[in-house]
Amino acid sequence: MINEILNKDSFSKQDIITLLKAEGDDMKLLFEKSAEIKQKYVGNKVYLRGLIELSNICSKNCYYCGIRRDNNNIQRFLIRDEEVLEAAKFAFEKKFGSVVIQTGELQSIKNTKRIESLVKEIKELSNGKLGITLSCGEQTEDVYRRWYEAGAHRYLLRIETSNKKLYSRLHPKDKLHKWEKRIECLHLLKKLGFQTGTGIMIGLPYQKIEYLADDLLFMKEFDIDMCGMGPYIEHPDTPMFKKRHLLLPIEERLKLSIKMLAILRLIMKDINMAATTALQAINIEGRADAIRAGANILMPNITPGIYRNSYKLYDNKPGTNENAEDSAANLAQLARLAGAEIGYGEWGDSKRFMGR
Ligand code: SAH
Ligand code: SF4
Repeated sequence: MINEILNKDSFSKQDIITLLKAEGDDMKLLFEKSAEIKQKYVGNKVYLRGLIELSNICSKNCYYCGIRRDNNNIQRFLIRDEEVLEAAKFAFEKKFGSVVIQTGELQSIKNTKRIESLVKEIKELSNGKLGITLSCGEQTEDVYRRWYEAGAHRYLLRIETSNKKLYSRLHPKDKLHKWEKRIECLHLLKKLGFQTGTGIMIGLPYQKIEYLADDLLFMKEFDIDMCGMGPYIEHPDTPMFKKRHLLLPIEERLKLSIKMLAILRLIMKDINMAATTALQAINIEGRADAIRAGANILMPNITPGIYRNSYKLYDNKPGTNENAEDSAANLAQLARLAGAEIGYGEWGDSKRFMGR
């Protein structure tokens, strides 16, 4: 039964649900198949994106996120431009290939200009060699265009869930938190020429297995270039923490996340897929499992040490006490554990995007 599904070229919602429910030997077969597809379509390499967390100041109030506006229990920071450039230089010297600038969402001219000039300066200091991904939330077309023209060429904006009703339970019901706006932004990014990535959180309160199948079909339908998805991890200083009695045990959320990656690899064979740090927050093997099952991107955190403890989107975030050097050494170990090779100094752009 499972073999029959695994050998199909296209998957119905029911097929995906069956795969999501696979356990034991069936689950093993799923992972074997996704590993095979990964080898065939994107190869054995994992590519690096040094993650720089620019700021935990955020104008939004997502119910699940530890750096939401109304959390008064954290110290807010904005790392200095020199520190961002230092981190980028570090990534360049270590042959990381690319950096990701991620930040709380701010819509202001000052923020737009700052990111624009950081992107330009990172390009300059690396002779155009460092690839740049941005993950700076919802912005206007103009802002996205400015950042693209400055030299950023990939953008990550998670839809969080493709289910509108669930989305509205995870966010305040106001103009700032609109599912439709998120979709509109994804279309803008694609239109402007960014390699466009999205993703979701897995194991959210009220999330049903059918919703996860819809999420995968949504990604296929939108024809994304990249995906970053991982388990939802509750944070005590957020409203969503009250719903923790509804959650699957954390190991189940991890397992489900790896299955989601494996199934997406079957559905969208040539996209880039990240083994997110949230996977590792649960279990150190998590990211290695994710790479084996289909992920081909790692995002080592290279944010200067003193700020890292303040950028906690979720509880127990790994790597918050290490320095960047440690993260770099851990990567080699992680790749070995997963039987993969690191594509040092390579951009490792989405094959799906390049093939369009
Ligand atoms: N502000 C930007 C980028 C930073 S947040 C944005 O929201 O797009 C990046 C991602 O962190 C979010 O998209 C969300 O999926 C994830 N995240 C936030 N809180 C989380 C939690 N409690 N558990 C797991 N992932 C979380
Ligand atoms: Fe801000 Fe992003 Fe967290 Fe929402 S998920 S509160 S937009 S940082």
